[in-house]
Amino acid sequence: MTVSGGMLHVETAGDGQIVDLTEAVRSVVRTTGAERGVAIVFARGSTVAVTTMEYEPGTVADLTALLERLVPRSPDEGVWEHNALNGDSNAHAHARAALIGPSVSVPIVEGELLLGTWQQVVLLDFDDRPRQREVTVQVLV
Ligand code: ZN
Repeated sequence: MTVSGGMLHVETAGDGQIVDLTEAVRSVVRTTGAERGVAIVFARGSTVAVTTMEYEPGTVADLTALLERLVPRSPDEGVWEHNALNGDSNAHAHARAALIGPSVSVPIVEGELLLGTWQQVVLLDFDDRPRQREVTVQVLV
């Protein structure tokens, strides 16, 4: 097995911004010359996540609204323990990131990511402030 790849640097506004990484990931995969293998896309940090979705305004709005309902910024009852114990304000961001997860693995077939036509690789930055994110793309062949 050989491992190659690259690093993406992504500036976000935070607060749940969703960024389409698909073309940047494709570019890294092409530089490796891999014909068949798997691309692992991993975001470093405990308030950021990576998944796949249809990246269009409706789905972005729907997923954003769903996460607001599931993991509200302020809990309906009680307090976020992370905020209370640490004097922090982003407990909801940690919880949302943990639910979605920090990475996806995408098969590479004939040199291309095996994504659906309406399936993009996205980064979701849940922190409550702008961030500069590092996303590692490792290609295993
Ligand atoms: Zn925190």
